[in-house]
Amino acid sequence: MAHALQHGINMRATHATVSFALVIALAACATNPVTGKKELTLMSEAEEIAYGQQADAEVRREMGVYDDPQLQRYVADIGDRLAQLSHRPHLPWNFTVVNHQAINAFALPGGYIYITRGILPYLNDEAELAGVLGHEIAHVTARHAAQQSTRAGLGGIGLAVLGIFVPATQPFADLTSAALGVAFLKYGRDDERESDRLGMEYASRGGWDPAGVPQFLSTLARVNELDARGVPNWLSTHPDPAARVIEAQPVLAKIASPSGSERGRSRFLEQIDNIVVGDNPEEGVVRGNSFLHPPLRFALEFPDGWEITNTPEQVSAQEPGQKRYMLLQLVDRPQGRTIQEVALRAMAAVQFKPIEGRMASLNGADAFVGVYQGQLEGLGVVTMRAAYIQNGRQVFLLAGFAPREEFARVDREVDAAIGSYRPLTQREADDIRPNRLDFYTVRQGDTWQAIAARGNLVRANDLAIMNGYAVNEQPKVGDRIKIVTEG
Ligand SMILES: [Zn+2]
Repeated sequence: MAHALQHGINMRATHATVSFALVIALAACATNPVTGKKELTLMSEAEEIAYGQQADAEVRREMGVYDDPQLQRYVADIGDRLAQLSHRPHLPWNFTVVNHQAINAFALPGGYIYITRGILPYLNDEAELAGVLGHEIAHVTARHAAQQSTRAGLGGIGLAVLGIFVPATQPFADLTSAALGVAFLKYGRDDERESDRLGMEYASRGGWDPAGVPQFLSTLARVNELDARGVPNWLSTHPDPAARVIEAQPVLAKIASPSGSERGRSRFLEQIDNIVVGDNPEEGVVRGNSFLHPPLRFALEFPDGWEITNTPEQVSAQEPGQKRYMLLQLVDRPQGRTIQEVALRAMAAVQFKPIEGRMASLNGADAFVGVYQGQLEGLGVVTMRAAYIQNGRQVFLLAGFAPREEFARVDREVDAAIGSYRPLTQREADDIRPNRLDFYTVRQGDTWQAIAARGNLVRANDLAIMNGYAVNEQPKVGDRIKIVTEG
């Protein structure tokens, strides 16, 4: 990783400091595989592949690969078929379902394509899956990914936030708003339009109905409209789905030769049957205002009404609309050091001054609870109540903070949240199961609201959107729909 990062930084430095004429002389002038036009690129194909390979290792490590070999093979088979019919069949194409609940798909230069497990419940058939894969393949074949990476350097991919309960090297480093998600490469409007068009073209060449592309874009537009949760998803990298549905229509009319083209609905549904939906107990689950982590065997309650975000590196909670946060992460504990030493050294390292501190027992777990003051980017001077908690061999940091002048108003809630930390028994841990995708045939009188209320695991609106409906349409009797059940 270090090597690739260095490479990215060097390229950026070159770009910024060397005169334009010199850049032209140094940069390869490559032929765009899609347009056939010569274009300036700072990345050769070999560099593109090397870059993709290194970033791929990072993605796999930090997001994780979804554990379902049959599903992986199914997605890779469709991806390979599309890639072989694309403008760059010779690249070492690679298709992976990553273990993430956000609705997302992304591409790295060199032919590395990813979809999240979270996108799968929102796809309705193979044609839509082929459309998503075709669209991402197009970002590679048209060299959007390479060009963006040339501009951004590897640092621009910013996968830094993932890796929950991998000890953070620097506490609070990534806290401000956007840092709670994953930053991916962003494409411009024109790149998106081109990828939509090529995605339809590739899908159609592969024998799938190219209408899968605009259909999935409609789903995204609905998610977009509904989603105020701020979860990073496809939309943060693929703007304006509603406009793109409209723009795709004339292109579709030219490409579509739907005679004999496939939707592959039942084949697709069979593949996604029983997949994990939402958070996975392996990485900790959010249930209401509780956070429970079965493998690490603990639970706690965040303040009522706060928004909880669970990423591999940390769990954070925020009072909506306020600069009041809580944060939970695993911290490094050098051998032989007491938790009090760990706490004071960590705080000193980020220049937080202790105001008070004492040892405490949180429902049987040893903790050092202190109040500190220091600076945080975007927040200015903050006051923080922080507990360093011993959990077996590990140490967690559980902290709440706000700008100094506001802290008194949240301290009680923060203190209560810290006090709610408790170890889970093996039995409690075993009882926490992931939610899974299942199917249901709609009966007379069913509504999304009624179906959603039965399990109370998914919102009625999400259920409608997952099944390709607008939120104001009700399911038809006899429809086989996707539902979410307790595992
Ligand atoms: Zn895109």
